[in-house]
Amino acid sequence: MPKYVYSFGGGSAEGRADMKELLGGKGANLAEMANLGLPVPAGFTITTEVCTYYYKHKRTYPKELEAQVQRALKKVETVMQAQFGNPDNPLLVSVRSGARASMPGMMETVLNVGLTSKTIKGLIKKTGNERFAYDAYRRLIMMYSDVVMEKAAGIEPEEGEGIRTQLEKLMTEMKKQKGYEHDTDLTAEDLKILVEQFKEKVKEVLGKPFPDDPMKQLWGGIGAVFQSWNGKRAVAYRRIEGIPDDWGTAVNVQAMVFGNMGNTSATGVAFTRNPATGENTFYGEWLVNAQGEDVVAGIRTPAPLNEATKSEHNKHLLSLEKAMPKTYRELDAIRKKLERHYKDMLDIEFTIQEGRLWMLQCRVGKRTGTAALNIAMDMLKEKLITEKEAVMRISPAQLDELLHPIVDPSAEAKAKPLAKGLPAGPGGASGQIVFTANDAVAWSKKGHKVILVREETNPEDVEGMRAAQGILTARGGMTSHAALVARGWGKCCIVGCGALHIDVERKRLVVDGKEFKEGDVFTLNGTKGNVYAGELPMISASENPRFVHFMKLVDKYRTLKVRTNADTPEDAKKALEFGAEGIGLFRTEHMFYGKNSEAPLFCLRKMIVSKTEEERRKALEELFPYMKKDIKATLEVMNGRPVTIRLLDPPLHEFVPNEPEKRIELAKSLGISIEEFNKRADLLHESNPMMGHRGVRLGITYPEITETQVRAIFEASAELIKEGKKVFPEIMIPVVSTEKELVHQKQIVEKVYKEVCAQYGLKAIPYLFGTMIEIPRAALMAGKIAETAEFFSFGTNDLTQMGFGFSRDDIGGFLPDYLEKHLLPADPFQILDQEGIGELIQIGIQRGRKTRPKLKVGICGEHGGEPYSVMFCHRVGMDYVSCSPFRVPIARLAAAQAAIKFPKK
Ligand code: PEP
Ligand code: MG
Repeated sequence: MPKYVYSFGGGSAEGRADMKELLGGKGANLAEMANLGLPVPAGFTITTEVCTYYYKHKRTYPKELEAQVQRALKKVETVMQAQFGNPDNPLLVSVRSGARASMPGMMETVLNVGLTSKTIKGLIKKTGNERFAYDAYRRLIMMYSDVVMEKAAGIEPEEGEGIRTQLEKLMTEMKKQKGYEHDTDLTAEDLKILVEQFKEKVKEVLGKPFPDDPMKQLWGGIGAVFQSWNGKRAVAYRRIEGIPDDWGTAVNVQAMVFGNMGNTSATGVAFTRNPATGENTFYGEWLVNAQGEDVVAGIRTPAPLNEATKSEHNKHLLSLEKAMPKTYRELDAIRKKLERHYKDMLDIEFTIQEGRLWMLQCRVGKRTGTAALNIAMDMLKEKLITEKEAVMRISPAQLDELLHPIVDPSAEAKAKPLAKGLPAGPGGASGQIVFTANDAVAWSKKGHKVILVREETNPEDVEGMRAAQGILTARGGMTSHAALVARGWGKCCIVGCGALHIDVERKRLVVDGKEFKEGDVFTLNGTKGNVYAGELPMISASENPRFVHFMKLVDKYRTLKVRTNADTPEDAKKALEFGAEGIGLFRTEHMFYGKNSEAPLFCLRKMIVSKTEEERRKALEELFPYMKKDIKATLEVMNGRPVTIRLLDPPLHEFVPNEPEKRIELAKSLGISIEEFNKRADLLHESNPMMGHRGVRLGITYPEITETQVRAIFEASAELIKEGKKVFPEIMIPVVSTEKELVHQKQIVEKVYKEVCAQYGLKAIPYLFGTMIEIPRAALMAGKIAETAEFFSFGTNDLTQMGFGFSRDDIGGFLPDYLEKHLLPADPFQILDQEGIGELIQIGIQRGRKTRPKLKVGICGEHGGEPYSVMFCHRVGMDYVSCSPFRVPIARLAAAQAAIKFPKK
């Protein structure tokens, strides 16, 4: 017979902590606590399978359920020595939800179930407290009529007309009539009258009497919890958190204990360690003579649990440690026992009924990044957990938090976002808004902190982006230029914030009807994509020496190498500090952006508008020393570690200046008229530049471009070798779609190689020749391509762009609709689409390694720093991932966690 009900209490339980799927988180942990012999009020859990059954069978229960509930209820009665519905000695129960994943406050609860006009007498006799009993009764009528008789019945009253509000009004009237201030001023007599008024009102409004039968109340409560799984709030929460609809919730029916039976009763919530700092001190809050809902309601300020954790705003209140020392010691012993058992920091709820302690809940506690680090390292030292477990205890997102200053979460919780965009660069930033890159530079030179706001950014904005604290754009996706650059610098950045209407001319922007002008202050949370008007405080995740120790453990367990995407010696140095083991992508064209780029950019522009090979060679000759210098400096910093240098990739027209003065200057230097210049520039225009004359196609039409770049790489290497240094360049050809392109380029490389070796009198220069796999056809043709390529680097930005046919720069326009309608689980430019693009990668690796078993394989698209994608890269057998410097530690952690979860056979 299927088992639908699991009992707990009285020192044992039928369930266990690892049965969360069946019993929900709450039920599984209640069972575990009962098994540990902790004081848990007896009860039972109705499984999530019943919820699934309920929705599959027109909201009915399996036929075995009723008998199983009856039997479980009997057990509770035996343990608690009271009977459900017994007028002399009544047992009361709570009915609560409990899904697999915590869904705080999203589903319903009914307390004090079992109180009727008959059993109330028994409760009065048992407690000797008439006021308490009638207060419990009025709470039951309020909750039950609201949750079971109204919400679960699908009644949707007008705003302010709900039954709960109407009953509250009666209570307020009574208080007014009697001249009372607080609910606690109501006497037993008052409450008795109120209860009758409540019952009448319920009948009048809902057309049905409040049930006076305990079993009817119980089944009503159970049904309401199952119903609430599909309530609006719960459904919305599941969408946000990605919790599947078919998981269902369990229902926990548990004997009531009361924290509001006088001054020897209390209720509280606590963490076994400090969830903000990780400090190993018992941390929590409690309220004397109160029920759990009073703590949540926030009417009274809760008192600190102990002396050690008093704060500025609660230090005047009596701690539990002082008020009830014996009970506190008992609770503290439970805290230690629970930690030793669960080997983690827990969040617990307890109630003290007339001096007796009861545990109502425990679960693994949520914590900040700093706390996660400290708790993991402390527990490792305490030998509670192993090194591998410590590595698994910090999520990559928490590590990210440790590396960037962030918006103070408590301040943010109180603020309302002005707008939302895509979270492109992590951390927080606040500053005065400016609308041009030049203003960003000028204002920050004067000592202002600025946020650069742009429609979208282009290479000419780089200086301004560098100068700004944060970047905010109205257009663009996660791999748009602004996003790439910002992430590379570890700079806070939000892109694709469509709600911004920017007027650059007037230096103003309008959001949601509100106008902001240059100089107004904005705060960005680049980790979430939230934009706020005004300044929110930042907190810098504290420098923790334990971080270094933790990262050592991480490196001990990972097998995937982690490289960085860096184009300057400065970035390379930073990445080395973050633990990079090489450069996986040196984008040559980045030397034409930003600082000191004027001169090389001028030469590049000359080359682009050249018409004849002769003109082009001349321009390339002028460009050559700049290229060689940059490459040499980076190779030198990397000191023999692999440096993948990609030959020029982006569409050339991107570099053609639009300003008339710049055009005139260039025309002059080429010795041609401005009309001729404009004509040539127009010819470069493409309707689809991402699929136009870029990447290897440039080297095919103009072999001299490849030749010059390769010469710069080999000469830089040769000079360093001569200086006694180590080098290991990897020459990478981008945007390849057929092996023939590679064969063509390889001939140029080999020719230049021989020339440079001879020129420097060297027998050999170590290097590899390889390609990017970023066009779907290349992934399919990988077997042939590997005949020539010694390594593959998956360019998943373009592979995603061309695999989906989604433009990387325009996805912001329609992505929100795809996400909202659940057509995509996430932005595929942010989190690798393992199903589709991932299959292309797997095919590429398999076919490539079939031809060349030792083929080196890595990834250099933005996914190389995204934890889920890094785990995928580990599983499909890549040798390394490469990502921007600030993401290197995150990739190292993700790689270690992948190695622990999916050990190589
Ligand atoms: C890619 O396409 O994934 C890549 C790394 O190249 P880029 O982003 O420069 O096109
Ligand atoms: Mg690319």
